[in-house]
Amino acid sequence: MATFPIQKLSQKETPYYYYDTCLLDETLDTINAEAKKHEGYCVHYAVKANANKKILKRIAQKGLGADCVSGNEVKAALEAGFPPEKIVYAGVAKKDNEILLGIDNGIFCFNCESVEELIVIQQLAAQRGKKARVAFRINPNVGAHTHANITTGLAENKFGIPMEDMEKVIMLSRDMPNIEFIGLHFHIGSQILEMDDFKALALRVNELQDRLEKQGITVQNINVGGGLGIDYNDPDAHPVPDFASYFETYTANMKQREGQKVHFELGRSVVGQMGSLITTTIYVKKGTHKEFCIVDAGMTDLIRPALYDAHHEIQNISNPEGVKKVYDVVGPICESSDVFAKAYAMSETKRGDLIAIRSAGAYGEIMASQYNCRNLPAGYTEEDF
Ligand SMILES: *Cc1c(COP(=O)(O)O)cnc(C)c1O
Repeated sequence: MATFPIQKLSQKETPYYYYDTCLLDETLDTINAEAKKHEGYCVHYAVKANANKKILKRIAQKGLGADCVSGNEVKAALEAGFPPEKIVYAGVAKKDNEILLGIDNGIFCFNCESVEELIVIQQLAAQRGKKARVAFRINPNVGAHTHANITTGLAENKFGIPMEDMEKVIMLSRDMPNIEFIGLHFHIGSQILEMDDFKALALRVNELQDRLEKQGITVQNINVGGGLGIDYNDPDAHPVPDFASYFETYTANMKQREGQKVHFELGRSVVGQMGSLITTTIYVKKGTHKEFCIVDAGMTDLIRPALYDAHHEIQNISNPEGVKKVYDVVGPICESSDVFAKAYAMSETKRGDLIAIRSAGAYGEIMASQYNCRNLPAGYTEEDF
């Protein structure tokens, strides 16, 4: 089990996120080392997983690009030091001022999700007298073995351009003076642990590229999105995800053309395991049939269990060797879904203990809300203590 610097951690008011930057660096070094084994592989960090400034800076320093899904994410990426030529920008509803921000800063590419959006990008680029680089996000109708709320690559989902419209939209873009078509983009979902799902995407990419080449269209960039999952059940056994197998799956299955770049947009797998939500046991309450461990963090700080039925390991770090007892671990919010775990075996806890909710570095702090007029949780690294 991971050990935590309990003396230090108890100096700050809970709840807050605690980020292990050593693990982050180890994860980033692994990504860079593994990607380097493959020709033309470029990795971008999906900012939406965690946009904490200190974390973004560290990722930028390690040379990754940034994958953004809003104008403010593009701003955050630029401020953190990601060079514009390594920023890609996706999203189904980019507004004019967001598109202009991308054009004015000369970002690498808009991942364009509809003909309607393409027309607007052309108009705005013309207004600025510039050329905007565009890749088309194609909906590959490839499922993923993950939670329905985080599946994005099925025809029923709102994302991307239908496969049957691919040629039409590329042809249209070629006639647009302020658009440069530079590639295809895909993203099938998140928390994917079965490499066969990525293989299915790779095979679909092959099929679509063959189709385009028959019409004389070559594609400089293939962006396969993100989605690699992490081990929520045993974070200490797998602190760094298996990036080697992930990249290998694409190399083994996708027919990369001469000189073609392959882009990845990894979010959860970069930052998920480095973060824990640190909270305090406020009361241990006896219910009719069970005991509740009531903590001061709630679904406003970490919404994943309520939103996705997500599992997070929970550790009583004040009493790591204590006898195990079974609790429902719940928060203070006035919602029955404000539950971190049901019937969960954890070292016996009492009022005042520090509790770590593990694997919370991705889609944690960034999804926090102020419901019930709560404060937003802070995000600390070792340097803050
Ligand atoms: C969310 C998202 C990602 C990152 O997904 P992870 O599962 O966190 O790796 C990548 N690309 C796009 C377009 C996304 O929306």
